[in-house]
Amino acid sequence: KVVCVTGGSGFIASWIVKFLLQRGYTVRATVRDPSNPKKVDHLFKLDGAKERLQLFKADLLEQGSFDTVVEGCDGVFHTASPVRCVVDNPQAELIDPAVKGTLNVLRSCAKSPSVKRVVLTSSIAAVAYNTRPKNPEVIVNETWFSDPDFCRESQLWYILSKTLAEAAAWEFVNEHKIDMVVLNPTMVAGPLLQPEVNESVQPILDIINGKPFQNYVYGWVNVKDVANAHINAYEIASASGRYLLCERVLHCSELAKVLRDLYPTLQISDKCENDEPYKPKYQISKEKAKSLGIEFIPLEISLKEIVECFKGKKIVDF
Ligand code: NDP
Repeated sequence: KVVCVTGGSGFIASWIVKFLLQRGYTVRATVRDPSNPKKVDHLFKLDGAKERLQLFKADLLEQGSFDTVVEGCDGVFHTASPVRCVVDNPQAELIDPAVKGTLNVLRSCAKSPSVKRVVLTSSIAAVAYNTRPKNPEVIVNETWFSDPDFCRESQLWYILSKTLAEAAAWEFVNEHKIDMVVLNPTMVAGPLLQPEVNESVQPILDIINGKPFQNYVYGWVNVKDVANAHINAYEIASASGRYLLCERVLHCSELAKVLRDLYPTLQISDKCENDEPYKPKYQISKEKAKSLGIEFIPLEISLKEIVECFKGKKIVDF
């Protein structure tokens, strides 16, 4: 079968492409600049790439950019979306590519009768950011939605972009009768296939570089589980709705402790970035994700994999 992966060179997408090739699919991956070796060389090295990987140039903000790549595909994995926390112009840099880009891809899908299912990479960002109280007893599940007003007031622009993009996607697919399954991963860790450090692994790199940890609570999940969940969500006919993907929720102080236990010789800081009380923890439901056959790789393994990957790529030196 032929499938399409948008943003094919990204951290998560590269693993989706790798596993799709392993499972025998013909993969059309979109990138913005196919002539940039940093974006494509690692994809061409994947097993099966020579025979079954095709690259297409496409941009989220270019109308119709995805028409030819989607045409004839059985499944479409829409992962492309800017992932950045610091921006000058949130509308242009995050919200437009996320929202207009998602609708652009879905419009191409609506035009192509071959497309049987779309799998959308949303995020915990579209789930957990609202005024509902958070404490260790609270279990965030698939019925939660982030509140755009709360995100605007808190200037959480990336989170707003993912919240609006998922909402726009549901509205579009309901109207156009497209079969869509949505995945909502927490922060993604694990080995990088691409050469450059992406945004979600930066807090781990900062901690191992000895910086004070953030006063923040994150859920974490391994990139291989995220990639397999995407493909299973496409292959399992009964999959539907949203799926939260999280192995463990912890405060960054606890993340620093896990890293300290794994790498006792590293100078990992025991200081927090501010003097405020620690942000409260909460739980994230794993129940629904089990139906995708995901067992969740333990965080300790994900962290070891990423640190060893940083060493291998000479991003850290110890
Ligand atoms: P990366 O930064 O590694 O990948 C983002 C991808 O989006 C890149 O391939 C990039 O393409 C593409 N992209 C950005 N802007 C555009 C644009 N204007 N037109 C076309 N493509 C564009 O991020 P991740 O792999 O971490 O994230 C992938 C998806 O997963 C995103 O949707 C993100 O929101 C979501 N997600 C990520 C999490 C994480 O912790 N990493 C957690 C939850 C969700 P190019 O390389 O061609 O520039």
